[in-house]
Amino acid sequence: MGLNNNPSAEQTLRDYDVVVIGAGIVGSAVARELSKYEGRLALLDKEPFPGVGVTKSGISMIHSPLMCPPGTLKERLCFDATARYRQLSLELKVSFREIDELFLALEPSQVPNLETLRKRGKDYGLEGCEIIDPRKIHELEPHVTPKALSALYVRGMGSIYPPEWAFAFAENARENRTHLHFGTPVTGIEKNRDFAYVVRTEKGSFKSRYIVNAAGLFADEIAAMVGDRGIELTLTKGTMAIFDRSVSDRVHHMIYGTFSAGHSQMITRTVYGNLLIGLGRFPKPDHKQDTTVTREKLREVIGMAKELVPGLPEREIITTFAGIRSENNKAAKGDFYIAHSPSAPGVIHSLIGSPGLTAAPAIAERVVKMLEEAGFPLIEKCSFQKERREGPRLPDLSHETLTGAIASDPGYSHMVCRCEQITEGEILAAVRRGADTLDGIKHLTRAGMGRCQGGYCSLPVLSLLAKQLGVGPGEITKKGGMSYPILSQSSRDKNVHG
Ligand SMILES: Cc1cc2nc3c(=O)[nH]c(=O)nc-3n(C[C@H](O)[C@H](O)[C@H](O)COP(=O)(O)OP(=O)(O)OC[C@H]3O[C@@H](n4cnc5c(N)ncnc54)[C@H](O)[C@@H]3O)c2cc1C
Repeated sequence: MGLNNNPSAEQTLRDYDVVVIGAGIVGSAVARELSKYEGRLALLDKEPFPGVGVTKSGISMIHSPLMCPPGTLKERLCFDATARYRQLSLELKVSFREIDELFLALEPSQVPNLETLRKRGKDYGLEGCEIIDPRKIHELEPHVTPKALSALYVRGMGSIYPPEWAFAFAENARENRTHLHFGTPVTGIEKNRDFAYVVRTEKGSFKSRYIVNAAGLFADEIAAMVGDRGIELTLTKGTMAIFDRSVSDRVHHMIYGTFSAGHSQMITRTVYGNLLIGLGRFPKPDHKQDTTVTREKLREVIGMAKELVPGLPEREIITTFAGIRSENNKAAKGDFYIAHSPSAPGVIHSLIGSPGLTAAPAIAERVVKMLEEAGFPLIEKCSFQKERREGPRLPDLSHETLTGAIASDPGYSHMVCRCEQITEGEILAAVRRGADTLDGIKHLTRAGMGRCQGGYCSLPVLSLLAKQLGVGPGEITKKGGMSYPILSQSSRDKNVHG
């Protein structure tokens, strides 16, 4: 079970034209874009589910290019992002919420910056980009601070839930004959005379002529495996908090106070309607997986958000998290580095930072063109299935379709996650589609993402997973590896010997 569709024992099926390493938003989007063309394609990730690296740990907004330094590649790749996501959301049947941006000036010294941004927006031809006065600001956002002097109002941006998107890209790539290999950490890459590369993993080796390195925070390590040793990443950490939906009516836009290379002050609505605040001033993390949230940092983030919306009730915060931001040493001005390897022909590196979610669909198109430059022939697949077969989640269905689902499977009338109203039928469907961990179920269905944060539904979800997969409850993990919520004798043994 799980997402993988590779009969792992058959070595011949591990002979690929292109291997994409990393199933974050970028690698998954690349795999889906590539699956429009003939070829033997594989998508590899060390985790059991797509989009659980940096992709899952951000504020998840589809920004305007105004967020990027002028003249950069990232700025170019953010143009038309909303239009791309709007179209993709129809093809892949995945949630996308349009949302407008408000950049506030709280001090007179900030007002000219808004005018500069507006002029840039006009030069880009961005429609719906205007300066508004305090009266209009409060008409749009009655709870915003009365100190707001002026705002830049940018219409037509968006919000997504990134793991759901990474899953949709990967699932659609699988529908188009891409082999998925999750839980497959890459440990080394060797050059070979007959078929360019052998990718070594903890689950065996993969031959490939071309490699796309989309390993996020670990892309520097993958690059070093093919001989590109000079790549370095500078890491910083952003902290966020999410509020219960009972206070969602306090904010309707993506509201920015100030932002710079060293901090960000914002509050927004997520795609599913919760308020989210972040990111504070960015400290350096201790290491690539240091996503701890400190009490002091949380206080700072809340304080900065309250400068924008003073009445935010912090007791309604239901969860906090942090994400690791990165910049590379290869591109100036914090730009993306998307390049052919200087020392390994057929290898393409994607080292990107924010706003990588926004740019991901355009990055995917660019990477596929670069593969063609490197010699991979782009022959369109007649059978390309652009629409994902699976439909939307139950809350998005019409009353008639819902009634039909319940009639064919009574599990759809049995509520398991009360906060988010997720039924047994949806959880079992998610398992059938490849979610085999508690977090996988959460990312696909939202079970456990509400006010109780899984306090009530984790155990019922765990036992449904175990039953459906035909294993004991002690075999189920939260997110792969050794993350067993229940310690059975066999999981204890794995902890000791594994
Ligand atoms: C706090 C924060 C807020 C952000 N907010 C926004 C925003 O609002 N809008 C926006 O556009 N962008 C935002 N970003 C940026 C955006 O999230 C990232 O640019 C994007 O998610 C990067 O995607 P990726 O696919 O390159 O990396 P990742 O999501 O990290 O994916 C890399 C994948 O590679 C896998 N991998 C790594 N090493 C190996 C290996 N050895 N073998 C196999 N697999 C491996 C990992 O498991 C992972 O799944 C934010 C980032 C942060 C940190």
